[in-house]
Amino acid sequence: MSKSVDIASPAHTRAIMNTYGLRVKKSLGQNFLTDQNVLHNIVATAEIGPDDNVIEIGPGIGALTEYLARAAHHVLAFEIDDRLLPILDETLADYDNVTVVNQDILKADLAAMISEHLDNERPLKLVANLPYYITTPILMNLLAGSVHFENIVVMMQREVADRLAAEPGTKAYGALTIAVQYRMAAELAMVVPRTVFVPAPNVDSAIVKLTALPARTHVPFDEAAFFKVVKAGFAHRRKNLWNNLQSLFGKQPETKTAIETALATAEIDPKIRAERLTVDEFITLTDALHAAELI
Ligand code: SAM
Repeated sequence: MSKSVDIASPAHTRAIMNTYGLRVKKSLGQNFLTDQNVLHNIVATAEIGPDDNVIEIGPGIGALTEYLARAAHHVLAFEIDDRLLPILDETLADYDNVTVVNQDILKADLAAMISEHLDNERPLKLVANLPYYITTPILMNLLAGSVHFENIVVMMQREVADRLAAEPGTKAYGALTIAVQYRMAAELAMVVPRTVFVPAPNVDSAIVKLTALPARTHVPFDEAAFFKVVKAGFAHRRKNLWNNLQSLFGKQPETKTAIETALATAEIDPKIRAERLTVDEFITLTDALHAAELI
């Protein structure tokens, strides 16, 4: 197999799969990218330069890894499927700046792996064509974790991408939007047709770019309490904020009065739905609920 040919063409991808007798595992979300334009766009969107370290989730047979290796200082890739390791050894043999580890990204100690394999002084980015069955837990772990990424550029199912980049007042705006936008600016970089994958997934895809925000000046008294209020706010989407807060705190008369006081302090209309509240309004609301001794 010629190394001068990109891994990512439909013909070359099929040739690699035939050579190794590889049958994709749908249960692991294996849909390999076979379009050089899309790969080029991903690397350009992440603004990967020779100084950058990059974490990749799920290198597959190496299509995206190869593009990252050409642009970055070093790539550290996490792949759960051990059948792919000997294949990656060969497809990425030309690149001495790639480390592939056979680990489940949801169980990996990312901070420890980074200090073991990467030079901590360099800018760190995360780029992935995600396994769609775990898009949300991966994102939640990355956002809650201690590792700082300058940006995160990820391919995911279109429906989740729309939620990340949603504006208040839209149907797609929800608890996930707020969890992401609390720390990162989210933008939809590109919608991607099913035809660029082998095999084609049965949903549409999109690339999302998340860019780290400067440290917030307006922060809640406690982040866990903030996320609890956000989750409760969206618990029953058709109920208004007042009803959802009552479900969280209870319906005793003194609780009702405390909720009323908190909403008045935060200058939020009780009849509003959570989908109309911005991240900052949720922070103000959390602090007002705290001041009213509800949380
Ligand atoms: N990067 C390759 C590409 O773009 O062609 C493959 C992307 S494919 C959508 C997702 C990859 O994630 C697969 O290689 C799959 O085996 C891997 N994967 C699935 N679950 C994983 C997990 N929990 N941890 C690490 N890798 C995982």
